[in-house]
Formats: sequence, C-alpha cells, structure tokens
Amino acid sequence: MIEGLLDGPAHELAAAVRDGRVRAAEVAEAALRRAAKAKEAHGSFLVLSPETARAQAADVDRRIASGEPLPLAGVPLAVKDNINVAGLPTTAGSRILAGFASADDATCVARLVAGGCVVVGKTSCDEFGMGSSNENGAWGPVRNPWDPTRVPGGSSGGSAAAVAARAVPLAIGTDTGGSVRQPAALCGLVGVKPTYGRVPRYGLVAFASSLDQAGPLARTVRDAALALSAMSGPDPRDSTSLQGAPPDLLSGLERGAEGLRVGVLAEAEGAEGGLHRDVAAAFRRTADLLRAAGAAVAPVSVPRVALAIPVYYLVATAEASSNLSRFDGVRYGARQGEGDLGELYRASRSRGFGPEVKRRILLGTFALSAGYHDAYYGRAQKVRGLLARDFSEAFLACDAILCPTSPEPAFPLGSKTGDPLSMYLADVFTVPASLAGLPAVSVPVGLSSEGLPIGMQLVGTAGSEPTLLALARAVEKASGAAADRPPGAVR
Ligand code: GLN
Repeated sequence: MIEGLLDGPAHELAAAVRDGRVRAAEVAEAALRRAAKAKEAHGSFLVLSPETARAQAADVDRRIASGEPLPLAGVPLAVKDNINVAGLPTTAGSRILAGFASADDATCVARLVAGGCVVVGKTSCDEFGMGSSNENGAWGPVRNPWDPTRVPGGSSGGSAAAVAARAVPLAIGTDTGGSVRQPAALCGLVGVKPTYGRVPRYGLVAFASSLDQAGPLARTVRDAALALSAMSGPDPRDSTSLQGAPPDLLSGLERGAEGLRVGVLAEAEGAEGGLHRDVAAAFRRTADLLRAAGAAVAPVSVPRVALAIPVYYLVATAEASSNLSRFDGVRYGARQGEGDLGELYRASRSRGFGPEVKRRILLGTFALSAGYHDAYYGRAQKVRGLLARDFSEAFLACDAILCPTSPEPAFPLGSKTGDPLSMYLADVFTVPASLAGLPAVSVPVGLSSEGLPIGMQLVGTAGSEPTLLALARAVEKASGAAADRPPGAVR
C-alpha cells in the first residue's frame, strides 16, 4: 500500500496518514529507499536526510495521534539545495559553499514541515540557480527520468527529476526566471511561480532578489495548491513578503473554466529561437480544450514580451553580481589561497565559482559600472516597467494568458552548453512573468511524438493564483496528462 501511495498524489497520501491507514514513519522509510535509487539513477538528490526525515515523521505521527489535522501529513518532501534546511548542507550547487550547513529552516520549509511534510533530502541545481538544464551545478548533471540522455531542465532540475521519478510526491524549487516552471514542463509536472512576495524568501540563497520566489513542484494541481497554501503568507524576516492573508487556493479549485477569459499569447508562435512543432500543436490543443471547458478564448498581445530576455540578463546579472559579492572567503564561502587579502579573494572566488556564475558576475558588474549604468541597467529597468504595463493592458481583456512554458521538450544533455544564448532562450516564455512579478503555473498537457512531456503556462495578474490554479486544474482534467508515468520511475 505504501508503494501505491508514493506513486499517487500527495493529498491522497496525506489523507491515508491522517486516517491512520499508514504511519508517517513507514512512508518516510519507503521514500528514503526510493530517493536513494533516484539519486543513483538520475543524480537528482545531492544528499539524503534520514535523521531529519525520521525525527519529522515521528513528530507527525505524534501530532496525528493527538488529533492535529495536518494538510500534508507525512508527505515526503525534496528541497532544492539553495534553500536552507536546519542541520543539512546548503551548497546552491557551488563549490564556494562546500562544507556549509544551515543553522535553521527557510520560512517555506518550516511552514511545509509544520503542515506535516517530511524532508528526505536536498536536490541538485544549477550553481546559484543560474541555468536551464541543471548542467551548471558543481556536482554533476541530472538526468531526466523520461529519457536519461536528456536534461530535466533547470535550475530546479533535481527537484523536478525526484518528483517525476516517483521518489517523492512533492518538492520545492526556486524560480527567478523560470526555474520551477521550465523543469516542471520538461519533467511532466505542475510547477508554480507565485506572485512576487507571496512566499517569503527568508532562507533562500539570493540570486536576483527582485525576482526570486520559491514554489512547489508536484504531480497534480491540487498538490501544488496544497503546498503553496502552506508556504504562503507574510514573514517579518522578509520585508518584501506580501502583507495580509493569502488567498484561498483550494475551495475554488474545481470551479472549472466556465466564464473565465483566456488570452492566447499572440507573440508565442513567432518567438525568437522558434517553437517546436509538437509544442505548437499542444499549445493549440490546450486553447481548444479550455474553450470546450467553457472559457472565452481569444488572442492577446503583450508586445514587449520579446524584450524580456535581454532585460532579464541585465537586471538578474546586476543583482547577482551584488548578491554574490559577499562570497569572498572571509565573510562567506570557502577560503582559498594564501598571501595578502587580494590574493585570498582572488583564489576563493576564482576557484569557488563555476564558469556560468563568473560570466554573470562579469556581465552584471559591467551593467552597473559607472559609465554604463544608465545605458544598460537603467534602461533595462525602464523596459521592465513597460513590459509590466503591457501585461496590465492585456489583463483588461482576459483573466489569464496562455503560452507554452518552454519552446521545446527536454533537450539532449550537452546540446546547449556551448551556446549560452540558445540556453538563455529556453526561458523566453517564463522570464516575462518574473520581470512583472506575476504568478504563473505550468501544467502538463501530454507527450511529444518522442514521448517527452510538454507543459503549458498560465500567467495572471498579481494575486490571481486561485484563478490560475482553477484553470490549470481544468486543463489537467481535460488532458489526463497527470496519469503519464516516466519509464525511469523508481520503486
Ligand atoms: N534559466 C534562467 C537563468 O539561468 C532562470 C533561472 C532561475 O529561475 N533561477 O537565469
């Protein structure tokens, strides 16, 4: 029975633990066994956390026995390695953080654990979240459980591969420009990037602070909604967290698409870098399916969406260059080198950071430098404002915008590592919502002709998570894609 529960959605597993059909302690042992197999097969986990998992599971069993109604009772959780879990290493995929262990839980982790989750391990990611393929991490690439010769997406690729492989029903990742949604799409999962500020950033390793948000990766929309509900809400330790009670994500989940207006992104078909045939077909199919479910579907334009990638690679790199300056081997990071202070900084940073992180620090430092600040960073901020305005205008005519999450299904390992620009274009559809601070959901819609998952994205106005999740649920129901299971699933 436990194996069946681990193959199914998190909400069913939680119900079984709540009803006393199974104990959280037994579920944790089974999930730890599966996680060990997934780690071996795909490299999704960097470390497992048997001690933490056993202690948390015992606590869940005690709380259930005393009648606490835990929404996520006993649900095994995988945590991306740029999010703190007390007592476990946090490397953010970087050598510069090798040997660092977190003193406490990130707010989002603490809240999921309070809701009944059990942390079974930390998952591989691109270094500091910089990448779209999980090939930029210091500890090796992750393989996609749908096809081990292909990437799982990034930067939350380990979290996505762990959930897709059925090691755990739920994982958390971070999304700065697409890092939850794109791996969710490439691994056949539901991924949510919440409204900026919805989930507190306390305990996340900062990449680009005006964009970073943590979000859930799950196999069903209901599971993603349950997890996001637990993670959301203000936090005194993050001054950018949204005040006031977060919206109810669950009671309207089954409302359907009736009466909602869905805008089909007009710029999607002509996107730079092109659209894979099967993705284009799935895009049209999803629009039809929403229409059949009662939504009013019409094209909508977000004219400046094509500027999102250049703007993102100025804003995000500028913020990253500033955030990463603290890793100098003195204040933070593994210390390397001998001699004077300059030599120590040089050795710590040049040996500690990988090539993509260095590229971004250089780009960001240049964009912020005295003579170029206005021409690059300043202008990018202005265009960011215009893009947000484009979205506001588009949302006068619709409640959500539909577009692909990724222009293509999972690509072969190594196929883009020599060409940063083509790698950056993997995020053409996810970066716009990030820059505008808007919520977005990726939902699986079926498989490509090669048997690889395809995901579609729904973007809404700030705070519209209930509507987006209800629409995603309507798509999930009509497509039946949640039942697709990868050949690399573990047992
Ligand atoms: N792929 C994008 C980048 O490399 C987004 C990463 C992210 O969301 N963390 O910056």
